[in-house]
Amino acid sequence: MLLAGKVAVISGAANPRGIGLATARLFATHGARVAILDLDETAARDAAAGLGAEHRGFACDVTDPAACKEAARRALAAFGQVDVLINNAGITQPVKLMDITPDDLHRILEVNLSGVLYLSQAFIPHMRERRQGSIACMSSVSAQRGGGIFGGPHYSAAKAGVLGLAKAMARELGPDGIRVNCVTPGLIQTDITGGKLTDAMRQEILKGIPLNRLGTADDIAGIYLFLASDLSAYVTGAVIDANGGMLIH
Ligand code: NAD
Repeated sequence: MLLAGKVAVISGAANPRGIGLATARLFATHGARVAILDLDETAARDAAAGLGAEHRGFACDVTDPAACKEAARRALAAFGQVDVLINNAGITQPVKLMDITPDDLHRILEVNLSGVLYLSQAFIPHMRERRQGSIACMSSVSAQRGGGIFGGPHYSAAKAGVLGLAKAMARELGPDGIRVNCVTPGLIQTDITGGKLTDAMRQEILKGIPLNRLGTADDIAGIYLFLASDLSAYVTGAVIDANGGMLIH
C-alpha cells in the first residue's frame, strides 16, 4: 500500500491497453484514489469505473489550458486533495524529417510538451498550498537517442523538451516541497507501437535490447509508482530509463 491516502491524477489514461490505465490500476491496488483524464469524458469515466467506485474520470485535452484548469477544479472538488500528477498523455507521428509540416510540429509539441506545462500549471497552486506533491512526466528514449521507430524527429524534440521542462520545474518547485521527475521508456507494447510491429521488425529491434524483450505498460507503471510514492522522497529532477538496456554503451 505505497499510496494509501493519496490522490493521483493521470493524463492519457483511458486506453485499456495504454501505460496510463496500467498505472491507474497499479496505483489503485496501492490504495490511491485516481482521477483519469483523457480526451473523451465517457471513456475516462468508464476506465475509472473499472477501477472501482472511488475513482473518477474527467475529459481533459491537455493542449487546452482552460480544460486543464477545469479538470483540476473537478478533481479537487471530487477528492479535496491531489498528491500526485502523472503527465502521461502523448501522441506520435511516424514521419521523416523533410515531411514534417508546421501543423505536424505544432500538434506534436502541443500534446507532448505544452500539455505537460499546462496540466502541471493547473495543479501546482494546490500542491504549493499544501507544500507537497509529486509530478512525473512522460518522456521517451526517442529524446535520448534522437529518434524512435514510431515517433518522428519532432516527437524526439518534444520529448527532449519534456526533460528540460521537468528539470526546470524540479528546480523551481523543490523549495515548495514538490518533486518533479521523468520516465524515459524504450519500446513498450501499446497501441502506439505493438500493433504496428512486424515479426521481422521485432527481431531486429530485440538485437539492440539486452533484456531481449519489448517493454510492457506494467513495466512503466512500476516506475511511476516509485516516483509517486514516498519511496522516492529524496528524488527530484531525475530521469529514469526503462528500456531493457537499449542505451548501454
Ligand atoms: P496510448 O495511445 O495508449 O496513450 C496515450 C493516451 O493519451 C491515450 O489514452 C490518448 O487518448 C491520450 N491523449 C492523446 N492526446 C491527448 C490530449 N490532447 N489530451 C489528453 N489525452 C490525450 O499510448 P501509450 O504507449 O500508453 O503512451 C503513453 C505515453 O507514453 C505517451 O506520452 C507516449 O508518447 C509515451 N511513450 C510511449 C512509448 C511506447 O513505446 N509505447 C515509449 C515512450 C514513451
